[in-house]
Amino acid sequence: MQSNILEVSNLKTTFTSRRTEFNAVDGISFHVRKGETLGIVGESGCGKSVTSLSIMGLVKSPGRVSGTTIDFNGVNLLELSKKEMRKIRGNEISMIFQEPMTSLNPVYTIGDQIGESLKIHKKLKGKERKEKVVDLLKQVGIPRPDEIYDNYPHQLSGGMRQRVMISMAMACDPKLIIADEPTTALDVTIQAQILELMKELQSKKGMSMILITHDLGVVSEVCDRLVVMYAGKIVETGPVKEVLNNPAHPYTKGLLASLPKKGFKEKRLHYIPGQVPAPINWGKGCRFADRCPYVMNECHSSLPPLFKVNDAQESACWLASEGRERVSDVNIETAR
Ligand code: SF4
Repeated sequence: MQSNILEVSNLKTTFTSRRTEFNAVDGISFHVRKGETLGIVGESGCGKSVTSLSIMGLVKSPGRVSGTTIDFNGVNLLELSKKEMRKIRGNEISMIFQEPMTSLNPVYTIGDQIGESLKIHKKLKGKERKEKVVDLLKQVGIPRPDEIYDNYPHQLSGGMRQRVMISMAMACDPKLIIADEPTTALDVTIQAQILELMKELQSKKGMSMILITHDLGVVSEVCDRLVVMYAGKIVETGPVKEVLNNPAHPYTKGLLASLPKKGFKEKRLHYIPGQVPAPINWGKGCRFADRCPYVMNECHSSLPPLFKVNDAQESACWLASEGRERVSDVNIETAR
């Protein structure tokens, strides 16, 4: 069994407005093993991106992060000063964002932008730095890297810009990469290339990765384990194959049913009715209750904890408590 590079314990990220205070991430715990890819999935508003920003120390005021620990390689990130956190960010943990055009600075060349973290964290200068940047561009499959070094972001295609973002994230050989919807803004054909590239680099360099996405198709291609989030909570977790083949939570099952099928001929697309509730509407019961085809009386009165489904899989649904019929055994259409 590999050891863990990251252990997040009871993470809460709280935002305050004049009228109210709410936890966008509401007491979640998970881990990432060395060398593995963990997928975090859920719809918009489930808390996936806030989770990644919390780990990176990038939650802006009035947001605040609390929890027992965010243990990265033996260091509790919640105890670090801003200066100490800056030494880790972009060096030992780096991030790939969804839209490279908003993450890249339009007035600096590609070479300057990739070289920045090498200058700050590795103290590389002049020719040595340029050689390293050109090598990084080569590694991510950029053609004519010497020429691209002097280009500005607007001179590149979307796929090329995302390759540049990946090379920036990898510049300092991080132990952990957090990729937040890295392919969502790209064409489908380019998406596949970028995913393949990330998989290849990750296995070559032995890095760990957290892949945040709303797309279970992407997860099945790239991830080893999966965390499904809903309304600030983890509702299901386990190895990708088990969760996708045998989902234990109605929300996971709904997400899977919403995927377009190969050779799709049905007239009606499946979807999960309703929306993720806003934190002020969470109530005391299961937060998925208003959209759940299996809802029971008890679901409205108490929030289910994570129950063990098997040695590796957990589900926060009363149906996963002992002696109940497995959600995967109940047809979603007949249950609705
Ligand atoms: Fe549905 Fe109840 Fe399970 Fe929530 S606890 S997912 S409402 S069956």
